Amino acid sequence: MDELSLNAVLNQLPMAVVIVRAPRLVVQANTAALELFGQAMVGADFVQTVRHPAGLKAIDTVLGAGGEQEIELPLQKPIRAIYRMRASRAENTGAEPRAIVSFLDITDKRAAEAMRSEFVANVSHELRSPLTAMSGFIETLKNGAGEDPQTRARFLGIMESEANRMNRLIGDLLSLSRVEEGERLRPDQSVDVGAIVRRVIAILEPQAQAAGIPLRIAGADDIASGVLGDQDQLAQVFMNLIENAIKYGASPAGVDVTFETTARLAGVEGAALIVAVRDHGEGIPREHLGRLTERFYRIDDSRSRALGGTGLGLAIVKHILSRHRGRLQIESRPGKGSTFRVCLPLLDTPD
Ligand code: ADP
Repeated sequence: MDELSLNAVLNQLPMAVVIVRAPRLVVQANTAALELFGQAMVGADFVQTVRHPAGLKAIDTVLGAGGEQEIELPLQKPIRAIYRMRASRAENTGAEPRAIVSFLDITDKRAAEAMRSEFVANVSHELRSPLTAMSGFIETLKNGAGEDPQTRARFLGIMESEANRMNRLIGDLLSLSRVEEGERLRPDQSVDVGAIVRRVIAILEPQAQAAGIPLRIAGADDIASGVLGDQDQLAQVFMNLIENAIKYGASPAGVDVTFETTARLAGVEGAALIVAVRDHGEGIPREHLGRLTERFYRIDDSRSRALGGTGLGLAIVKHILSRHRGRLQIESRPGKGSTFRVCLPLLDTPD
């Protein structure tokens, strides 16, 4: 391969590749490297490119003793990122030893690994608490506490609710993984969001009534609310949001679900349907708003648990809406209540 075609190959590579000649001079850099480190790198000492001691040591070793070195280094280019730098000696290339150095951005890979292990730690923790409680009660019952019928009934009741909690958690985990699995596949059935929301409200009505919270729906009859959607998943979106409004936004002023359409909305292609679930409860402090859709993020851990929450409800909502090419907007002011807006691309453009 002549030099020209080698350059052409190097310039096509998505990763940065640099050739360094002893003592430590950068003699060539491909397009990705110039973009990453800047034009001035060629003809300068490699220390201008990578100031990291371990990176310099790796280059010196390869240029001195030969062989290959691979290290991970953080670089501020343009924001902090983690690169796998690999340097190997180019053999038979004239008098001075040369090293070929490549940089692979592994920031996303590391972030995904960290997220995965954090997720496993969270799930284990969430499952362990009800299990520990149940084991404790089993032990107490075995040790004689079960002979008193009242105590036994009370303990069994607590064990039942802990088992239910584990069941809900596993149900939510399965929903989340199913939604994530199919997230790239956009639903292709045409469904009526108005009808879905009415059904969800009918299911939640007894729970709301028992808590003294009126549920109102407005605007659904006046507009066409057809979207390309998955009926069950959209029902789950509204189930989670309206149930949250009843649980965390409880107020005698009730919960309003309103429908409207708009010709344009950032993040949604074409005309959008907006279904707002608004409560008049205590609201959510600003600092939490951006994190609510993270898995297991709760404002008040013990309150969420006491109300039967798994901490996954809004994460599921977010993934379902992303599969539907829609989005969730959250607006809230402490003391004034919260509004969760479901925005979906409309099937028919409103007149
Ligand atoms: P959970 O299972 O805990 O309900 P979610 O993901 O559904 O999990 O909600 C995450 C957290 O967001 C809840 O624990 C609660 O602190 C907060 N939250 C959700 N909806 C509301 C609301 N309408 N008003 C106030 N806080 C809310």
